[in-house]
Amino acid sequence: MGSHCDESLVTSAKIPTIKFTKLFINGEFVDSISGKTFETIDPRTGDVIARIAEGDKEDVDLAVKAAHDAFDHGPWPRLPGSERARILMKFADLIDQNVEDLAALDTIDAGKLFSMGKAVDIPNVASTLRYYAGAADKIHGDVLKMSREFHAYTLREPIGVVGHIIPWNYPSTLLFLKISPALAAGCTMVVKPAEQTPLSALYYAHLAKQAGIPDGVLNVVTGFGPTAGAAISSHMDIDAISFTGSSEVGRKVMHAAAESNLKVVSLELGGKSPLIIFDDADIEVAAQLALVGILFNKGEICVASSRVYVQEGIYDEVVKKLVEKAKAWVVGDPFDPKVQQGPQVDKKQFEKILSYIEHGKREGATLLTGGKPLELGGKGYYIEPTIFTDFKEDMLIAKDEIFGPVMALAKFKTIDEAIERANKTKYGLAAGIVTKDLNVANTVSRSIRAGTIWINCYFAFDNDCPFGGYKMSGFGRDSGLEALHKYLHVKSVVTPLYNTPWL
Ligand code: NAD
Repeated sequence: MGSHCDESLVTSAKIPTIKFTKLFINGEFVDSISGKTFETIDPRTGDVIARIAEGDKEDVDLAVKAAHDAFDHGPWPRLPGSERARILMKFADLIDQNVEDLAALDTIDAGKLFSMGKAVDIPNVASTLRYYAGAADKIHGDVLKMSREFHAYTLREPIGVVGHIIPWNYPSTLLFLKISPALAAGCTMVVKPAEQTPLSALYYAHLAKQAGIPDGVLNVVTGFGPTAGAAISSHMDIDAISFTGSSEVGRKVMHAAAESNLKVVSLELGGKSPLIIFDDADIEVAAQLALVGILFNKGEICVASSRVYVQEGIYDEVVKKLVEKAKAWVVGDPFDPKVQQGPQVDKKQFEKILSYIEHGKREGATLLTGGKPLELGGKGYYIEPTIFTDFKEDMLIAKDEIFGPVMALAKFKTIDEAIERANKTKYGLAAGIVTKDLNVANTVSRSIRAGTIWINCYFAFDNDCPFGGYKMSGFGRDSGLEALHKYLHVKSVVTPLYNTPWL
């Protein structure tokens, strides 16, 4: 067994009672019209933890109708921004009060580290809400200087009913990156969480109601992508869709939007992000950044530094450190505070990652460490931290987003070679640079085609920092005021300055 692992699967006492398993439409928890349900499983064991209402097109129709009524006739878009802010602040406070339950739900549903959820993910969700609550009463247009004798100004108005489609890797964070700015803008919405991780979204819906968000403003339809998800992206009465997920499904969403009502689309998609380590880097810092860059959240993170390029002068030392660190990395029950990596989200993802590892071996990359599943108590979807070296950009393990704890590592000579290889990808989500040389850092950061560049850090996110992709990593931005603008239309209002003929 390559990496250190927690041999006994800890049966945690922290598992919360699952209170919410039905669709949340117009302020009520309801069964799906068909009465169908689906299983959600605990990736630590593969056991079924709950049956969840399976929403379909008819349920999406009901949710869209509720959202439309709330938009056209309800108070939410018409409230003063300060009042929406007050309610969003209350929502954030309720999240803080329920942090343990929410973190535990994402642990049993997605295999995420409980300690991380409790200390970081869930508190950050509350802080995202507060960030946009702070913006809700500062939404305004501009006064325009017209070239002729007109008075003109712009209004920023909520875009309408929004469909949010969420992936499973960050069920809380990604939900709030979408609903917080949309709520602050005065939109109403229908959310579809991933079928693998529906639990926390339903709990948040309950808290939203307690906070005073009016019925119909936030609706949650749990269900599958080709049914509930497709019904959202092709709906004639949804004004905008904000999607986070794979590039493959993003393409379908855009197609459905184009084929239906040309709704506004924003896509946050996959990545194959490069981390470039230059000769002047501190070896310890560089190895730690590279390791955490791929193993954080078990590699199930869109910005994972899945391709690592190390300059030849320090390559051998970095490799040695990386392998040592990977072997010491603790894989096990995500409720155990010593554990650094939990199980992959489900069997399908687990098998997909293992099949990429097999591809890597067949394609001729050198396996430095890992490469096997971990049998923890004979159950669950655990995989060893895995490092390949000697990869080429045309290999599958370097081209495709594996979304698992699998690093592809290579040696480079010059800055130009590093830039060229880093850009040799269809994706453009993020990149990292490790160097003390400002000239190198600035040259590389301006040459890489990606939406976020981290210099001497990685995963440094902030509410104020726009986040999104270039190329096939999508378009539109989550986070920052850029995201608020995604949910606002700009309307120009023009009137003659004087009571004179205007033609
Ligand atoms: P996915 O694309 O399979 O699913 C995402 C969501 O889309 C799910 O809710 C799913 O049910 C829904 N869906 C599936 N088919 C659909 C269809 N035909 N119409 C409408 N909706 C449909 O992605 P995933 O496996 O859940 O998540 C992993 C992917 O998400 C990775 O590619 C990852 O990089 C990406 N991701 C991107 C970001 C980002 O911000 N750029 C963040 C996290 C994850």
